[in-house]
Amino acid sequence: MTERLGHFIAGETVPPSSGEYFPSTNPATLRVLYAAARGDAADIDRAVASSRDAFQSRAWRTLTPTKRGHLLRRLGDLIGENAEELALLESLDNGKLLREMRGQMNALPEYYYYYGGLADKIQGAQIPVAVPAILNYTQREPLGVVGTITPWNSPLTLTTSKIAPALAAGNTVVIKPSEHTSRTVLRLAELAVEAGFPAGVVNVVTGFGNEAGVPLVSHPALAKISFTGSTATGSRIAAEAAARFIGCTLELGGKSPNIVCDDANVTNAARGVVAGIFAAAGQTCIAGSRVFAHRAVYDELVERVTERACTIRIGDPLHSDTELGPLAFADQLAKVDSYVKLGAAEGATVRVGGARPDDLELPGYFYSPTVLTDLDNDIRDVREEIFGPVAAIMPFEHEDELVALANDTEYGLAAGVWTQNLARAHRLARRLDAGTVWVNTYRAMSPMSPRQGFKSSGVGIEHGIESMYEYTRLKSVWINTDEGPVDDPFVMRG
Ligand code: NAD
Repeated sequence: MTERLGHFIAGETVPPSSGEYFPSTNPATLRVLYAAARGDAADIDRAVASSRDAFQSRAWRTLTPTKRGHLLRRLGDLIGENAEELALLESLDNGKLLREMRGQMNALPEYYYYYGGLADKIQGAQIPVAVPAILNYTQREPLGVVGTITPWNSPLTLTTSKIAPALAAGNTVVIKPSEHTSRTVLRLAELAVEAGFPAGVVNVVTGFGNEAGVPLVSHPALAKISFTGSTATGSRIAAEAAARFIGCTLELGGKSPNIVCDDANVTNAARGVVAGIFAAAGQTCIAGSRVFAHRAVYDELVERVTERACTIRIGDPLHSDTELGPLAFADQLAKVDSYVKLGAAEGATVRVGGARPDDLELPGYFYSPTVLTDLDNDIRDVREEIFGPVAAIMPFEHEDELVALANDTEYGLAAGVWTQNLARAHRLARRLDAGTVWVNTYRAMSPMSPRQGFKSSGVGIEHGIESMYEYTRLKSVWINTDEGPVDDPFVMRG
C-alpha cells in the first residue's frame, strides 16, 4: 500500500481535513512514491492559526535573536547530518541528478549558518532629527506569519532561501511546497522541531496551487507572501497581495542570455553554455536558454556544444555517471517537445535532439539535449521560457547589437558573459538588464550574494542581508526627552 504523508502543523503530522491524498511519481521510473495530503482552505486556516499563535507565543516572542540564531545553526547541522537522505528523496521526487541534489543539500547548512549569524545583527539607527529634545530611532520588527510557495525544481533550496531569512528576522512560516515535491519540505519541518523551534513556527500544508496556494495567499492573517515559480502565477499572487497591502517577494521565470564574445576562451565558454542549459535538464529559472555567439566564434561554438550534447549520458538520476535525468512530469515533457516542434515549424534548424531518446530502458519523461540554430529573436522559442534542455544559439557582430538583442526580452533574471577582455566584462555587466551577471562562469550562487529578478523575472531580493530586511518592517520612534510643558499644541511639530 502506498505510504501516506500528512501535513505538518503545530509540531505534528496531521491528516488533511478532506481526507484526500494525491500521488507523487518518480519521473524516471513512473513508479508512485507516496501519496501526499491534498490541502485545502480548511488546512490552510489551521496552519495559519497555528503560525499566528506561535508568533504571539512567549516561547517565540521572548526568544532572543541570538538564541534564534542558535536554532537556525542547529537546523543547519541537522540538514547536514541528513543530507544524504534528503538528496535521495529530492532526486526520486523531481528526477534531478542525485549528485546535483547532494551538492545542494551539502550547501544548504550554509544558508542556515549565514542567517543564524545575522539574526542578532538586525539593528535600528538613531536619526539626528533637527529637534534637540527629540530622540528619534528606528527599529526593525518581524512581520508575523509569512507564507511561502515554491516550485519543484529545487524544493529545499528554494524554500530555504525564504524561510532562513524569515525565521532569522523572527517571523513564523507556513510553507506550501509544489504538488510535485512534497516530501523533503515535510522532513525539513520535522527537523526544525528537532532543532528546537517551538511547534507552529514552521508549518507545512501540501497540495495544489488552486486548492492550497490560493487560500494561503488570500488568508487575512498572512503578513507577507514569498513566492518562487512561473511569471503567470507570480502575477496573480502580486495582484492579490496588492489588493490586501501585504508585501510580496517574487522570484519568477527567465530567458537568460549566455554571451560568447570573440575574445572568449571558446573551450570554457562551450562548457559554460552546456552547463547553463543542459544541467538539471534545463529546468532551472537561470537556464542560459538564449546563447549569443560572436560571428567569429559562432561556428566553433555551435560545433562544440552540439558535439557535447550528443555525448551527454542520459539515464537514471541515481547513477553517478548520469549527466541528464528526466523532466519532472508528463506536462513538462509535452511542453518542451511542443516548443521544439514549433521552433522547427518557424524555421529553426534542430542540430541535435528534438525527441525522446529511443535507447533508454527507463520509461520516464526523458528528452534529448536539443540545439536550435537559424532563429531570430522574435520567434516564441526565443521569447518564451521553455524550462527544458533546449539551447537557442544565435550570432551577433557588434556589441551594441548584442546588448539590444540580449535585453530584448520580458525577463531579466540572469546573464552570462564569456570574454577575456576586462573592460568589456565590466561594460557588459553594467549594460545587461539582469539581476545577476556571471562572467566566465555560470550558475554560481551563495546565500551571501543578493539576487533579484529584473522586469518580469521578479520583485524583491533573495539572499544576502537585504533579503532578511524584506521580512521586517521599519518603525520610527520619536521620544520627547523634554519633560517641560507643551506650550502650544498647534506648533507641536517643532
Ligand atoms: P508554478 O507557478 O506553476 O507553481 C509554483 C508554485 O505555485 C507551486 O507550488 C504551485 O502549486 C503554486 N501555485 C500555482 N498556482 C497558484 C495560485 N494561483 N496561487 C498560489 N499558488 C499557486 O511554477 P512551476 O511550474 O512549479 O515552476 C517552474 C517555474 O518556476 C519556472 O517559471 C521557473 O523559472 C520558476 N522558477 C524561478 C526561480 C527563481 O528564483 N526566479 C527558481 C526556480 C523556478
